Amino acid sequence: MSRKLFTFNGGVHPDGHKAVSNATPIRAMSLLPHYVVPMRQHIGAPARPMVSIGDQVLRGQMIGAAEGYVSTAVHAPTSGRVVAIDARAVPHPSGLFDLAVVIEADGEDQALEFQPLDWRNLDPSALRNRIRDMGLAGLGGAVFPSFIKLNPGAQKIHTLILNGAECEPWITCDDRLMRERAAEIVRGIEVMRHALGCRTTLIGIEDNKPEALAAMRAAVPADMEVVSVPTLYPGGGGKQLTYTLTGVETPTGGRSTDVGIQVFNMGTAYSLYRSVELGEPLISRVVTVTGHVAQAGNFDVRIGTPLKDLLAAAGGALPGASGEIVGGPMMGFDLMDSAAPVTKAVNCLIVKNPKLFPTKPIELSCIRCGECARACPADLQPFEMYWYSRAKDFGRAQSYNLFDCIECGCCSFVCPSHIPLVDYFRFAKAEIWEREREKYSADQARIRHEFKTFRLEREKQEKADKFAKAAEKSREAAASGADVVADPDAEKKKAILQAALERAKKAKEAVTPKNTDNLPPMVQKEIDEIEARRSKVEGNTESQARHE
Ligand code: SF4
Ligand code: SF4
Repeated sequence: MSRKLFTFNGGVHPDGHKAVSNATPIRAMSLLPHYVVPMRQHIGAPARPMVSIGDQVLRGQMIGAAEGYVSTAVHAPTSGRVVAIDARAVPHPSGLFDLAVVIEADGEDQALEFQPLDWRNLDPSALRNRIRDMGLAGLGGAVFPSFIKLNPGAQKIHTLILNGAECEPWITCDDRLMRERAAEIVRGIEVMRHALGCRTTLIGIEDNKPEALAAMRAAVPADMEVVSVPTLYPGGGGKQLTYTLTGVETPTGGRSTDVGIQVFNMGTAYSLYRSVELGEPLISRVVTVTGHVAQAGNFDVRIGTPLKDLLAAAGGALPGASGEIVGGPMMGFDLMDSAAPVTKAVNCLIVKNPKLFPTKPIELSCIRCGECARACPADLQPFEMYWYSRAKDFGRAQSYNLFDCIECGCCSFVCPSHIPLVDYFRFAKAEIWEREREKYSADQARIRHEFKTFRLEREKQEKADKFAKAAEKSREAAASGADVVADPDAEKKKAILQAALERAKKAKEAVTPKNTDNLPPMVQKEIDEIEARRSKVEGNTESQARHE
């Protein structure tokens, strides 16, 4: 009996363009002279470089250690020498540079001795630590460190969902992976089930990938279910696929784990297999190169491969190309610098031309048609969020659940006024995060100041209490006639004073009249004058006292 499926609201049907790249097997790229490995390739804190310029490294050697809890390690994609550790172009919509380790390949591609794991006999917590050091992160685009997603914590996970929907147009890397490496993906899924402690497993694949569906069905054991889901963008969104397969809605502002379901991408399952069963860290991934390019297809690419070299491996862009998109056309972004490398997040490179990707029409005013709301798979009101984001009234934009927006771009896709709605939402989110960061920093500074003031006050009070106690003790001792218990410090001070008094006494004796007989006349004169002034003062004081 086939599984009952549920249909989420909204969604769109853009042209898939999948056939451009899914017909040929995955190709391996030949070794390059240089690799640029960014330290920030995942959500969370960037990795901390563990190598110095001039160091020799082996393939799979850790060159960046996870820093903090939400972080993961980074590894050398080949053997060679570290020739630079500095800011380099990275694939990011901002076009900003980021810290990267540059490796000059020695051509040997010599690997560390990889240690496969006996994961079935390993405690899940030890397994997760190992996965963290292997640099595993979600390869579906979100790049969340996998060891965290594999930790159910207090939340019981009853269902594991494997996301093979690959709903974005043009992208076919998961399709090819499922067709060619289904058995390895299944072994990765077994590791996930062990770590999460759950058995129910659903593998959702869009019905426009019949070969992938067949390959996965042939590879899975009886207790994993491969489900064909309707092709509808963004059916591969975590919340949308969860709903389609189970009918369970993820709460607003929450995650699927809140309802006991964890979702992983196919590429992540495959990399997990390589990490655990082969002992090889995450140093490569499959990337689709498509669009206006000579030989579109999918490539097994080392992390750190410059995108211009990847494009060259696909025969280069055809004449008339007008730029590249990293990721899909719905959620991706324009590539600013082709020297930027492939990272764990890069699943696709699309070469544009004006016919495939015409210049966007001029943005017109919102006519309040409501098309965007009808297309929104997250049941939001994009035109309201747009209005307030544009007016920089971010509080009101947030009150319309701005952070439930998955940035799928369906609203922009259908808007008859050609308003790039999703760009406004990204801008609003970035502004809110920035303000939150500033507020957090200000709060931290205030807390530090308050604590310092409190500490100084406390120390002052402690000192005062100590003196009061000592004074009280002295008074009590005096009242009872007992010897006051000597304070060692006070005794020391007393001895110093006594010595000073002795010295002063001796000095005084040296100038007393009995020793003045032989004083020089000038000194004698001065002493006489002092004596005279003293007598006068004493005389004045006496007469004043009498008068009073
Ligand atoms: S689809 Fe465009 S024009 Fe229509 S309501 Fe939404 S933002 Fe306005
Ligand atoms: S981008 Fe956001 S608001 Fe627009 S349709 Fe997608 S989820 Fe809805």
